[in-house]
Amino acid sequence: MQMSEARNAVVLLSGGLDSATTLAIAQAEGYVVHALTFRYGQRHAFELEAARRIASVRNVASHRMVDIDLHQFGGSALTSDDIAVPVGRSLEEMGTGIPVTYVPARNTVFLSLALAFAEVLPADDIFLGVNALDYSGYPDCRPEFIQAFETLANLATKAGVEGQRRFRIHVPLISLTKAEIIRRGGELQVDYSLTSTCYAPDESGRACGQCDACLLRSQGFKAADVADPTIYISA
Ligand code: ZN
Repeated sequence: MQMSEARNAVVLLSGGLDSATTLAIAQAEGYVVHALTFRYGQRHAFELEAARRIASVRNVASHRMVDIDLHQFGGSALTSDDIAVPVGRSLEEMGTGIPVTYVPARNTVFLSLALAFAEVLPADDIFLGVNALDYSGYPDCRPEFIQAFETLANLATKAGVEGQRRFRIHVPLISLTKAEIIRRGGELQVDYSLTSTCYAPDESGRACGQCDACLLRSQGFKAADVADPTIYISA
């Protein structure tokens, strides 16, 4: 579905499977994509390389890599050297409570910066690849949070207050299963071999195969009946 006039969108691109699919969906909806990636103090830089490759092959209009240092605060297995990434958890265990891979207020911080970028571009549309069904239990991946942020975006900005623009936060994956996301990405020619999902890859970027992100990803490929292009440490 092509729109009559190409419009800008800011797409948050982490380098993972979900954000790569979200970017492709935004393009398929006719948006001119400006990708935004955060070097936020995460322990592993492979996903940043992945984001670069994805932005490049998808021919985005621009790709910004912005530094923010959440490592200063720590408080997450992804930003602190003192907290281990959990491995080998069942879906049931993943579905209980909020895991230590939760990064405090991460999506609030990311969306706030995306909003600033969108106000300047200008873009009225921000795409975020959050998913409420992937058992992660992250509070900032829920539809209520997205709704609340959209309200905030229109209250907090000059563009929103002056009334000539209305910001929208798009979360096209919010109610899809991992398998559905992978099938949709396949239709849109997303190259998942370029993406990096693992919370604890080795020095050469190979996925651990045991963290929640790896397990959900590999089960998603199985359920979608699509070959998993991920390179695992054990492979
Ligand atoms: Zn992993």
